[in-house]
Amino acid sequence: MPEGHTVHRLARTFDQLFAGHALRMISPQGRFADGAALLDGQVLVAAEAWGKQLFLGFGGALAPTGTTAERWLRVHLGLYGAWTFASDGSADVVHAIGAPRKRVGERETVPAPELSDAGDPQGSRASDSSPGVGEWAAPAPRGAVRVRLLGAHAVADLTGPAACEVVTPEEKAAVEARLGADPIRPDGGHASLDAAREAFACRVRRSRVAVGQQLMDQAVVAGVGNIYRAEVLFRAGVDPLRAGRDVPASTLGAIWDDLVVLMRDGAATGAIVTTRPEDRDAALPGFGPPVAGLPDDGSGRGAPRAGRRRTRQNTDGTPGAVPPDEAFYVYHRDGLPCRVCGAPVLTKELAGRALYWCGTCQA
Ligand SMILES: [Zn+2]
Repeated sequence: MPEGHTVHRLARTFDQLFAGHALRMISPQGRFADGAALLDGQVLVAAEAWGKQLFLGFGGALAPTGTTAERWLRVHLGLYGAWTFASDGSADVVHAIGAPRKRVGERETVPAPELSDAGDPQGSRASDSSPGVGEWAAPAPRGAVRVRLLGAHAVADLTGPAACEVVTPEEKAAVEARLGADPIRPDGGHASLDAAREAFACRVRRSRVAVGQQLMDQAVVAGVGNIYRAEVLFRAGVDPLRAGRDVPASTLGAIWDDLVVLMRDGAATGAIVTTRPEDRDAALPGFGPPVAGLPDDGSGRGAPRAGRRRTRQNTDGTPGAVPPDEAFYVYHRDGLPCRVCGAPVLTKELAGRALYWCGTCQA
């Protein structure tokens, strides 16, 4: 399931591709035919995310810029949902979606691979469009497409969502009222980011439920999934099985602040990276075990390692991409040595989802 940073990126993509344009909306699969008919031909005036919820606002057929949305399309991808974008290759459109054709969703750890454009994607015409000579023809829907949004230069197809419905502004507000603070929203979804931090800490401390379980509760904090849950607790040195009410408010405040940094970085780059540079590269040649004879510096990291740590750089000197196998401290690293203390990373199932943590660093 995509975590919140992906849904925020989706909102930005919709804004860049479609905002200000009247869109065709159909349900090739048929299951959303009534909802699509309500919004067909209307102008997209807003695209927002709150946690894992995506809201696309529509303001009528001739809505000028700045119009308030009259109706919203609410989408939650859930475990199996995905958006697939395709475009005519316009430079600005490719910039928005990163590729002429791209699929977002379904997989949690890494972006799904781009679909290969076997055959001629332009060759099959959408059933709802009859473009003239020289105009772009959207590729035919693939699979059971619940809803298709079609603009002049791009198309977005939704498959397999957990939720897809048309809601009023009041119904949207009711959905949001049930959600916890969102670290990626500028104000966290509250009066201010400080208020959001306070609300998060109070909410966790109200319950004896394990803090690791509460972080996955969208009513406690919105947008956190299994990766951010595991990683932020490691970075804070907090045992995920500790009762929420036993975690100090100051620690929860620090966890919130860390989520703000990590998740906004994920929303900006599209990749989740939680390891600090000094904790990567340990497995590279030249970075062997601790050097005998050098004292432990008391940092809890053990004795210094042999050699100088190398930082990956691009040829222009900017930091290089962090490879996926060095991006996390504990997520999906069960049985591997902890990057900080060397103890094997632990895993167990908690409320139906795999939890990962270091029993030493998070004692
Ligand atoms: Zn450790």
